[in-house]
Amino acid sequence: MASLDRTARAFLLTELVSGFALTLKYMFKPKVTVNYPHEKGPLSPRFRGEHALRRYPNGEERCIACKLCEAICPAQAITIEAEPRDDGSRRTTRYDIDMTKCIYCGFCQEACPVDAIVEGPNFEFSTETREELMYNKDKLLANGDRWESLIAANLRADAAYR
Ligand code: SF4
Ligand code: SF4
Repeated sequence: MASLDRTARAFLLTELVSGFALTLKYMFKPKVTVNYPHEKGPLSPRFRGEHALRRYPNGEERCIACKLCEAICPAQAITIEAEPRDDGSRRTTRYDIDMTKCIYCGFCQEACPVDAIVEGPNFEFSTETREELMYNKDKLLANGDRWESLIAANLRADAAYR
């Protein structure tokens, strides 16, 4: 009986027809996929992407070299060296993040008392070599300059919940 049933289905092409019917049904429904990279899905203001070091509006670095981010980093990915400037302020002379160690936990951002180190909205920073993922202070400050308006908007949106 089962083999008769299979034969009848094969001759009547019922599986083919039901497959086409399913395709036709979904052809007119709203698409659930996006045409990445031309289209992108929404991102939460709390999204933890590529790191950036921020500046104040006058261009001064926010980071005061307190090293709290270095101390709290569970992956020991951050390396900071610092010394006082001529005006007595304390600033980093070296701020490195080994992005191959980072687990994107966000602890560095949470620990920072001046919102200097942040995980920005950029998630498109894949590289071809490991060396390119060894970020230094220049790279992190450049990221901050590039993403500042979005980072500031995200921090403002999340401020009420912190
Ligand atoms: S996100 Fe976490 S693992 Fe990455 S640098 Fe910050 S504290 Fe370290
Ligand atoms: S980024 Fe923030 S937590 Fe890290 S050393 Fe600078 S001021 Fe301190």
